[in-house]
Amino acid sequence: MRRFYVDPDEARKEYPQIKGQDFRHMQKVLRHEPGDRVILIDGSGFEYLSVIEKMNSSKAFLSVLDKKWSETASPLELTVAQGFLKEKKMDTIIRHLTELGLTRWIPVISQRSVARPDHRRMHERMRRWNAIAVESMKQCGLSRIPDISEVMTFEALIESKEAYDGKIIFWEEETAPLKDLFPDNPKKILVLVGPEGGFSPEEVNHAKGCGFKSASLGPRILRAETASIAACTLLQYLYGDMKKEIHPF
Ligand code: SAM
Repeated sequence: MRRFYVDPDEARKEYPQIKGQDFRHMQKVLRHEPGDRVILIDGSGFEYLSVIEKMNSSKAFLSVLDKKWSETASPLELTVAQGFLKEKKMDTIIRHLTELGLTRWIPVISQRSVARPDHRRMHERMRRWNAIAVESMKQCGLSRIPDISEVMTFEALIESKEAYDGKIIFWEEETAPLKDLFPDNPKKILVLVGPEGGFSPEEVNHAKGCGFKSASLGPRILRAETASIAACTLLQYLYGDMKKEIHPF
């Protein structure tokens, strides 16, 4: 059953409406008609089983039949800290990690970050990143908008006091695979992936001294954006919801 994103206050109306591009997609592409059931999501983490009561030329009027906590919000709280990359690559990473159930994303300035944020443009880039995350959330039916954090320095990130069940720095010189890293089932994980130039040995040692474990993603050197996507996929499979049975409404 398809999920449609509505603003939070729309979901609480007696007859929530689907309009604009989503309405055209619903009517023209999915050929939905009155009586059909769809799921509404509003970014709160809930999803609303709804039925199309009527449609006119520009909008659909629905009524909500049931509400439950969404399955698309992963049980794994996954934060990815990404060594600063060139603009387009950062956009790509946010788009794909959102589809993979990302909870929070932190851009990080490390020693070898070639691309450095232009502070005058940072506000505009944050707005753009948030818009990409919302678009990706709507497209994949994720029910909760990922949190896009302000830029942090490598030191501030690894020395932060935020509690995680597991902290992983992905390092191409490491030999230990990810699967053996945690004896139990971590629920809140911080992932750290380097920029194009990777992490310096000092940075890796500093991270290990702050409780990070280093892990390998195999014998090949991956692009940073590939490494982030691979790491999130593996963690969702090992500790999240990519190997679970799905229980829709
Ligand atoms: N220093 C690398 C080199 O020799 O070309 C480039 C770094 S790689 C482009 C960017 C980041 O992806 C690395 O900092 C690391 O976090 C991650 N990465 C890439 N390949 C990896 C692998 N095989 N195992 C673990 N992490 C990897």
